[in-house]
Order: sequence, then structure tokens, then C-alpha cells
Amino acid sequence: MGAPHLLRNLHPSAAPCAIKCFQHALHRSFYTPPPLPGAGLRTAFRFGYGRVLHHPSRRVTVAMASSFPVKKSEEEWRAVLSPEQFRILRLKGTEYPGTGEYDKFFEKGVYECAGCGTPLYESTTKFNSGCGWPAFFKGLPGAIRRTPDLDGRRTEITCAACGGHLGHVFKGEGFPVPTNERHCVNSISLKFVADPEPDS
Ligand SMILES: [Zn+2]
Repeated sequence: MGAPHLLRNLHPSAAPCAIKCFQHALHRSFYTPPPLPGAGLRTAFRFGYGRVLHHPSRRVTVAMASSFPVKKSEEEWRAVLSPEQFRILRLKGTEYPGTGEYDKFFEKGVYECAGCGTPLYESTTKFNSGCGWPAFFKGLPGAIRRTPDLDGRRTEITCAACGGHLGHVFKGEGFPVPTNERHCVNSISLKFVADPEPDS
């Protein structure tokens, strides 16, 4: 029995939280940029080269490739990630609520980035938010990067090492946690590593 157990089911208003999170998922599904219409050289020429470079999907790809220590091409990421991991980590997708491996998982250990293996969260900072995704009140120092969404409404969190999409961080929701923050993270973006047994 530890702190995470004590924190279970303490959210004062689980239903609004669930609604917000469904909105989160819904919005995310719309946010994922559509492919360029009739993508090809002819279309690129018609829209102008600058227009193509500034399409959201291109901007994301360029930013993720250039500003993080761990750099891989799209082909290299596809080679090491499952299709679903690629969709969420590299294309900023969202797993369906309540389906993730770590949603109701409270073993002791560390959660690493599923893309690059960087430690991101300790299990002692995980709590049950009731919203359908793993929730943490704090990341390991320097491990999480925060970036305002393009619509300015939410703050995306990514692995600071590889830029892999984790989810979003929400403030001031009233959860009984020290930071009054909830890192809402896709399970598939994480890999849990259990603490060693005490006498092993
Ligand atoms: Zn990473």
C-alpha cells in the first residue's frame, strides 16, 4: 500500500473530467492534419513552396527532427515502433480512453519513453484520475517538454529526448496531488520498468 493507492477515486468530479478527456480525444482526432490535397509536385507548385512547408504536418515533422537530441527519420522510427506507437508518438495521436495498458496500473517502478527509453515518470507520481489515461502529477527533472498546442488551448507534453508525443498537461483541476497538475499520458507512449526486488 502506498500513496498511489490512497489517491484512487478521490477526484471530486469524475464525470466532467471524463467529458473533458473525451473532448481531448475528439479534438485530437480533428487536430491531426489531413494529407495535402492531391499531394505531389504539381500541387506543391500550385500552392507555392512556402505554403507546403508551412502545412501543419510538415511543420511538425521539421520541428521534431531538428530540436531533440535523439534524431531519427520517419523510416527509422517506423522500423522500431509498432504502427500504433508510430501513430501516437510521432503523429501525435491519442489512444482510445480506458484501453491503455497502464491506465489502472500501479506497480512500483519507472515509466520510460517507448520510443527512446529515456526515463520519464516515477510510479510514485502516478495517480488514478478516472479519465481513462495514465495520470502523473510530475515528470522526472528535465524529461518532459511542454509546448502550447497550435490552437493555444492546451499544452502538449513530449519526451524531451526524442520529441515523442506523450499527451497533454492540465493545471488546477483540483486533484489531491502536490503539483495540482495532471500529465495525461497515452499508455502506448510509455514502457514500464519495475523496481528490482529488494533481495535480488
Ligand atoms: Zn523519447
